[in-house]
Amino acid sequence: MKASIEKFLDSAQTFRCPICGSGLHPAGRSLQCPRNHTFDIAAKGSVALLRSRHTQDGLYNQPFFENRSALLSTGLYDHIVREVAHDVSLLLDSPASSLLDVGCGDGTLTKRLQNLIASAPVDSPQQQDQALHELTVFACDISQPAISIAARGNSSIRWFIADLAKLPIADSSMDIVTDIFSPANYEEFKRVLRPQGKLIKVVPGKHHLMELRRAIADSHAALPKDYSNDDVMQGIEQHCTIQHSTLASATLHLDNAQWRQFLAMTPLMFHVDKSSIDLDSLRNLTIEAQIVQATMK
Ligand SMILES: [Zn+2]
Repeated sequence: MKASIEKFLDSAQTFRCPICGSGLHPAGRSLQCPRNHTFDIAAKGSVALLRSRHTQDGLYNQPFFENRSALLSTGLYDHIVREVAHDVSLLLDSPASSLLDVGCGDGTLTKRLQNLIASAPVDSPQQQDQALHELTVFACDISQPAISIAARGNSSIRWFIADLAKLPIADSSMDIVTDIFSPANYEEFKRVLRPQGKLIKVVPGKHHLMELRRAIADSHAALPKDYSNDDVMQGIEQHCTIQHSTLASATLHLDNAQWRQFLAMTPLMFHVDKSSIDLDSLRNLTIEAQIVQATMK
């Protein structure tokens, strides 16, 4: 059996049926529940665990995720993912840890995160072996084209298509949930995390994309020049007990090609006429995030 399929059969007990909520078990090259709801595992190594076929959002199509994957592969968010990997590697003190990355999109950052965790400096060789061999990574997104891109290559990550509001994951089965620049569902995070499991939520920092926000505001007087993450932080504080929070910030020089890729990717530009922005005036871009580690209330 191919490793891309086997990794799901090995983890069947971690998943649950998105239709009836029962546990899943391996059945040939599929996952199946006692009521015979059956979910085929794609040869590349992903599985769709949805109640019904999700209507895809027109903006988030295959070319969108191809572009995002190409841009993020250049390491634009590396300083942020490094901090997340550092937090995760410090948490790997129990055997057989599990991590779920929600809203993973095209999976570029999840793969980078897994690689950085595996290569993170640790106190002892035993700890290094443990981190390498016993962290099982699950990653989901609602978007079928995103997961089909994520599943390329021979990653051990269990990629699955799922609805954040109804995660097809067993109760108390995850040690860590990571949520990188994605929406949250705190009730579901609490349900799937073990008691004392950790949420690592990455939210945009106050200066995130400030050069672009200002360029947009210059030509669109109605749009704000500055960004605040106060609402997001209040949401976290309402549902979680924050243990610590780290700011990762870098101001990077983007070439014209990267700027074009970035403008096609960022939601900031979804309702803005691209021709109204003077591309030649854009040089540096600040990529900033607050990395919040918390337990659920
Ligand atoms: Zn079922």
